[in-house]
Amino acid sequence: MPSESLRAFIHALPKVELHVHLVGSAGIETVLALARRHREAGVPTGRAELERFFTFRDFDHFLRVYWAVQSMLKDRHDIRTLVTGLAAELARQNVRYAEVTVTPYNHILDGMPGDELLAGLAEGRAAAAERGVELAWCFDIPGEKGVRAGRETVVFAVRERPEGLVGFGLGGPEVGVGRAQFEPFFTAAREAGLHSVPHAGETTGPATIWSAVHDLGAARIGHGTSCTADPALLDYLAGQRIPLEVCPTSNVRTRQVGSIAAHPVRRMLDHGLVVTLNTDDPPMFGATLEGEYLAVATTLGLQPPELARLAKNAVHSSFLDTAGKSALLAEIDSITRGDTAAVPRNGVQAE
Ligand SMILES: [Zn+2]
Repeated sequence: MPSESLRAFIHALPKVELHVHLVGSAGIETVLALARRHREAGVPTGRAELERFFTFRDFDHFLRVYWAVQSMLKDRHDIRTLVTGLAAELARQNVRYAEVTVTPYNHILDGMPGDELLAGLAEGRAAAAERGVELAWCFDIPGEKGVRAGRETVVFAVRERPEGLVGFGLGGPEVGVGRAQFEPFFTAAREAGLHSVPHAGETTGPATIWSAVHDLGAARIGHGTSCTADPALLDYLAGQRIPLEVCPTSNVRTRQVGSIAAHPVRRMLDHGLVVTLNTDDPPMFGATLEGEYLAVATTLGLQPPELARLAKNAVHSSFLDTAGKSALLAEIDSITRGDTAAVPRNGVQAE
């Protein structure tokens, strides 16, 4: 397929994003607004300088950018700015639904009252809905901060249970941060009706993924790329239909894989795994969801029917309600058949 038609096809697919961190989703416009509001943070307030600061160099620099953005989030206005910036970017790419990872413990540790965080999320979510983007939340534990963070995160999630909260996750480094220690918090979250969506197998081996499944009752695996090293695990994930939130560009940026061409996503698909494509920390990694689809299409040779399958996998793997899933699946089928003129795009007839 010529590249322009491929891009148009990818754009037309109504997309779902299942693995994106709210702080890591901040783009240039958002960070510029925050930097001008919080000059004391020392983040560049001029566009050219900010763009230079923001360009991905290496993982350590990415962490500097990430924590600089985190340090400027003080109240509901900042959170709302972040959420509406993400929603605008999702709408631009025809992403209709996203489950966004929020780390309440970090914001509260930084001095933001929990009520301010929740108010900013609710306001941003309402503004996103007006743009045709439905947002849901996954509250996650910053694993490096240990069991205390786990306990406080689940207490906050279950007590506040804000509108749109669907998932409970575990992020941060995997090395030296065993999944099993967080078992009681995941059990409590699941008993409260939240779905378990821990990161596992991004920077460590298959044992971490087994632990996420057995100890944390994972309904989906964040990343999970190392599963290809364990044939029994591949069979298990395929048999149980446990989806993987695969983030190819992120894996290249963090040097878990050498290149998109070397990414195990092709093997995962060949093995029958439920693979979804996601962005993790998109502007900070120079990624977009459309770009992920395009990258796997051009580098790994995936054809439009396979891209449509990936888009459908994301719908099936989401915690969207049945009516919402059916509508998106029907629209993907319609795009695949080629009758795009009949398909509304964000409520607007396709041009
Ligand atoms: Zn992540």
